[in-house]
Amino acid sequence: MILAGLMLSALLTLGCNDKQPVATTADAGTPQASAQPAFQSATEGVTPKPVPSDALHVDGNRTFQYNKEVVAFGSRPVSSEGHAKLENYLKAKLKKDDLEIDEFPIDSPAGNFTGRNYIAKFPGKKDGLIVIAGHYDTVYSLPKAFVGANDGGSSTALPLQIADVLRGKPNNGYSVWIVWTDAEEAFKTWTATDSLYGTRHLAAKWKQDDTAAKIKAFILVDMIGDADLDIDEDANSTPWLRKVVYQAASDLGYQSHFFVHPNAIEDDHLPFARIGVPVVDIIDLDYGYNNVFHHSVEDTLDKESPKSLQIVGDTVLETIRLLNQQ
Ligand code: ZN
Repeated sequence: MILAGLMLSALLTLGCNDKQPVATTADAGTPQASAQPAFQSATEGVTPKPVPSDALHVDGNRTFQYNKEVVAFGSRPVSSEGHAKLENYLKAKLKKDDLEIDEFPIDSPAGNFTGRNYIAKFPGKKDGLIVIAGHYDTVYSLPKAFVGANDGGSSTALPLQIADVLRGKPNNGYSVWIVWTDAEEAFKTWTATDSLYGTRHLAAKWKQDDTAAKIKAFILVDMIGDADLDIDEDANSTPWLRKVVYQAASDLGYQSHFFVHPNAIEDDHLPFARIGVPVVDIIDLDYGYNNVFHHSVEDTLDKESPKSLQIVGDTVLETIRLLNQQ
């Protein structure tokens, strides 16, 4: 996620144009706000249901350890040394898996680069596919002191732990593909063309080769390590899939951390939403008071908690379990 300038309402105190609050509290005078459709929360009428004792779970401490190892590479923008080290780390961690390295050209305002999405594929018996994704790059334009513990780090670490959980286990449900996306962040300033390079490429490719038609759900995780975990309810996510995620969180007793604020978020799920894939973004864009740690050198491991990573990881696994029942 990225910082940018366009102010749409009084709520945008940090000026993040990729995170526009839904028109619940916006000032009445802005045409952008009044044009927004009424927001329907997925939290209404959800009753927790029991989770079977053999349900899969992540290990929050293990996930946090991965998060630490990722942060130890330093800042990880495209074409940096830290990025190259992290790519080698991903390849080593996923060496036993069916791993696709999806290379693509980046034509950015800062120059031309090569990006790589990493896709680990875990087969299932059911016809169809669930995609779990998180970005592994950090912001190109920020100083080297920016290590993106939460923004880039947590979204690399949790998918690695989910891969551990799925690895080698028989799966009667949908196949699960885990994607570490590249070049999510802008190179200069967040715009439709300077952002989401990896997923814009991948969505186009999957549309062309018909993979997109097989995807039952695209579940994105971003900034999910905040010790003070309050996941936004994203208006750009598919309503029925948002509901399944909230059901999953409720089943596990974690509903107080979910869908605390309504928001409309631009993130790696959008290119897939645009081609008709059901999507959900699980993101906590309230990172420090007024989101002050976001895209700041203050985005460090001490702001995170293994418990938050575990809550989100288990909610993702429970979401998969519920989707397999549909
Ligand atoms: Zn970001």
